Amino acid sequence: MIEIFRSTHPNHFTLPRRIERLAELAYNLWWTWNPDAMRLFLRIDPLLWEKTYHNPIKFLRLVERAKINAAVQNRFYLEDYDRILAEFDAYCTRKDTWFATTYPELRNRPIAYFSMEFGLHETLPIYAGGLGILSGDHVKEASDLGLPFVAVGFFYTEGYFTQRITEDGWQEATYTCQEFEDLPVLPVLNENGDPETISVELPGREVEARLWEIHVGRIPVYLLDTNIDSNSPSDRTLSARLYSGDLEMRISQELLLGIGGVRALRVLGYNPSVWHMNEGHSAFLILERMRELVAAGKTAEEALKIVRSSNIFTTHTPVPAGNDEFPLWLVDKYLSHIWPELGMDREQFIDLGRHTTNWGDMFSMPVLALKQSEGRNAVSELHAQVSRKMWHFLWPDRNEREVPITHITNGVHLSTWLARRMRYLFDEYLGNGWLERQDDFELWEQVMSIPDQVLWDVHRHLKRKLAYYIRERARLLWQKGNVHPVQVIAAGVLLDPDALTIGFARRFAPYKRANLLLRDPDRLLRLISRQDMPVQIIFAGKSHPDHEGGKRLIQEIYRFVKRADAAGRLVFLEDYDLNLARYLVQGVDVWLNTPRRPNEASGTSGMKAALNGVLNCSVYDGWWREGYNGQNGWAIGGDVDYTDPEAQDEADSRSLYEVLENEMIPLYYRRRTSDDLPGDWLYMCKDALRTIVPQFVMRRMVKEYLERLYKPVMMEKQTSFSQ
Ligand SMILES: *Cc1c(COP(=O)(O)O)cnc(C)c1O
Repeated sequence: MIEIFRSTHPNHFTLPRRIERLAELAYNLWWTWNPDAMRLFLRIDPLLWEKTYHNPIKFLRLVERAKINAAVQNRFYLEDYDRILAEFDAYCTRKDTWFATTYPELRNRPIAYFSMEFGLHETLPIYAGGLGILSGDHVKEASDLGLPFVAVGFFYTEGYFTQRITEDGWQEATYTCQEFEDLPVLPVLNENGDPETISVELPGREVEARLWEIHVGRIPVYLLDTNIDSNSPSDRTLSARLYSGDLEMRISQELLLGIGGVRALRVLGYNPSVWHMNEGHSAFLILERMRELVAAGKTAEEALKIVRSSNIFTTHTPVPAGNDEFPLWLVDKYLSHIWPELGMDREQFIDLGRHTTNWGDMFSMPVLALKQSEGRNAVSELHAQVSRKMWHFLWPDRNEREVPITHITNGVHLSTWLARRMRYLFDEYLGNGWLERQDDFELWEQVMSIPDQVLWDVHRHLKRKLAYYIRERARLLWQKGNVHPVQVIAAGVLLDPDALTIGFARRFAPYKRANLLLRDPDRLLRLISRQDMPVQIIFAGKSHPDHEGGKRLIQEIYRFVKRADAAGRLVFLEDYDLNLARYLVQGVDVWLNTPRRPNEASGTSGMKAALNGVLNCSVYDGWWREGYNGQNGWAIGGDVDYTDPEAQDEADSRSLYEVLENEMIPLYYRRRTSDDLPGDWLYMCKDALRTIVPQFVMRRMVKEYLERLYKPVMMEKQTSFSQ
């Protein structure tokens, strides 16, 4: 066990001694990015592993004794068990991590990372989309690199919703209460063995939250949860759901995250050197840290200066309307008790987050965070340009170009998203220790030596795996009843595992333009339905349940998918989540993304696809504007700005059809070698691997955060009053 964790895993599984450490493995998410560790569970009972949705805790609770006994009798199983646990121990206790060897002098300077959502695994529904996946991947990589890191978020007991689609294409959302006994979350207890709690003042009451801990490799993630007896029934649901409820719910949650999060770290004995706010939701942490300093005798101005010097803020939102802000009446209601404690009056306080709009003044979380941070970044180069323009008013005496917002382009955690088969392929062709060098461009030159046949075989295997998985899901849907037969076709039963397959999966926000392909329906139908060159397109994604526009978009797609003339070649898969994302980014031929530029701050799913040798076809926006080199995939439209969205959609859709018709489809079907291999296609896949992977792995990203944003703050002389 690592001493950094406050809690240890329970051992209520009564496993045989010989393999009892499976319980420990189940409670550390390390197994989720180590496929051989995952297989220690799966191999005992593959069907139960699927049935429990890859939840090792539930799995160990339910697995038959006879199957466990069979594993204990199996010499090969035991050999693997011993080897993997030794790897796990070595990982957890490793002293020569990148961070420890590069910056030994900074090891006692913890980095606190705050995020509203964490996408760590499909069994932990505490994420909604890209922001959460990015947070989860960031934590995993911080563990791999050995950063002194601690994360803070929410334990949403009902999580994000499960999506069902009605026959008419309407999204239905259901929330399920999570059984925390079955989740890898551990209660944090105080010396008396009672739950450790913190409290935050909301209008007329104190709301308490208890703390949960998740072990992510070497990193603890702490989650706040208000579902405890001492809270009123309505306060108990404050942390029940992610992004749900009205503005009062939202400001309450954000007060809990920001203020409660700081208090939680204090209770746990942390004195972070860096406070990283991943998006503005956690910016109230600034207030709590100020309050601490003012209570210790500092003036408001001194306190702000100290607080600012250790804050890092990452913005993800390129549109003003997407930013989190509150009307001033709400600020009066929820925060008026705070400003005296900060040594401020109302106007001074409001100035911290003031955003003057056409509708009057608002209190803006990103304004608060931007003004009170030492380091500020956007998540791609274009996004930084847009952000500098958007927030120029905060630095009126500077040129737009000099607005102090830099960019660190997003990345994805390689081991989480890479298919096991691809990993074995890289083991063979990239040489020993390649994982350690994953952000080294030179290493990836070696993919050019992978024989076409070998790469094609692995890819075909992954594609078939996706097709079988989809078919099984469709079968279950049908079996459960209450669906129209056409929904089974829409769910993908007619997919052909050999046809060119395009994936499009993401949140259904209108700017993502899932319907761009449908602008010219006849042209689309012609493109997909040629007997000799069939094309299939798999859609998936959720809309925010309160967002009618997103739900209508799903409906538009779904109605089209059901059409007889689409011939079952268009598919909509329900309930997009981490698990489905993994299947899709590993198993399709092309990953399609059609955001309305410049609204895709970065995007990350295309990077996941690229790791697996899947080609990207995407708009010149976000990360793809940096990843595309003219031949490692396809770009839609140009590197140009539009003022008229209608003209933009028209031009982009035309460009997309042309790419499909003139480049992508012929490249896949026509240019086959004598042994029926798409040689030029495979060359492009290798070129994509070579040029994209080292640049867009989470390792490059976290190193960049460390070197460009965290380190300057960590090197600051630690002030005595920073507690
Ligand atoms: C990666 C991922 C996302 C984010 O994808 P984008 O391309 O950034 O839209 C959203 N949801 C899930 C489940 C993911 O795995």
